[in-house]
Amino acid sequence: VARAAFALVSLVVILAAPAAGANGRGRFDERQAFTFLRWQVALGPRPAGSAPSRRLAARLVRLLPGARYQAVPGGLRNVLFTVRGRDPKRVVVLGAHYDTKDLPDFVGANDGASGTAVVFQLARTLRPRTVRPTVVFAFFDGEESPDGTDFESGGMRGSKVAARTYRHAEAMILLDMIGDRDLRISREAGSDRRLWTRVESAARRTGHGGVFADDLHATILDDHVPFARLGVPSIDLIDFDFRCWHKTCDDLSAVLPRSLDAVGETVRSFLASD
Ligand SMILES: [Zn+2]
Repeated sequence: VARAAFALVSLVVILAAPAAGANGRGRFDERQAFTFLRWQVALGPRPAGSAPSRRLAARLVRLLPGARYQAVPGGLRNVLFTVRGRDPKRVVVLGAHYDTKDLPDFVGANDGASGTAVVFQLARTLRPRTVRPTVVFAFFDGEESPDGTDFESGGMRGSKVAARTYRHAEAMILLDMIGDRDLRISREAGSDRRLWTRVESAARRTGHGGVFADDLHATILDDHVPFARLGVPSIDLIDFDFRCWHKTCDDLSAVLPRSLDAVGETVRSFLASD
């Protein structure tokens, strides 16, 4: 019986994969996502509280009808956008930070713009009641710590506020630095194991299992941590093996649309899976 059930499951997976590919409507459009990444990079450096950062936030609010600001200490602002699911009692948070590290000429194509681009692309294409959980798309301000502060106290400023609002969420998925040219996502040790396994399965279903590496990466302090500390199962999809981390070479030459596609398709499939 077990063997037969397994064969049936395999068959369903094989049938489902090309169907998802053939169905143009609702598929993740990595070119559109990449266009938004490029637009962010063209704004130049976007440290928290700067004019370009506020311009980016204003564009998110304008292009996502119903999106709202959430005040963050220091005059900063998260952008939150909710798409109702069929089961409004269930909430999944999908987040990315939209600020960039305050360094001269640093434009953060990967560290900042890539996660923001994928979260934004999913936010503007997910239709209400097409998936079961309500999805909160969270664009965090002030992830990066200002000069002279450590990351624990000076960083994750927006996510600390948003985590208190959504402490009842059943899951939190963070996208950070997911655009680099040779995307390989190791399992971050602080990430919830069960949620990680489910997202990895979604990657395999969409043919992107190859971007998930087998190895384990030491715990990373990032915007998922404030959620995890409040008891929300949380994961950080991040490729921290990036030679341009907080360097000016984190520009358009460091990122590729196909990396955005792998993560975008994976998250879409995860949201649709239950
Ligand atoms: Zn950073």
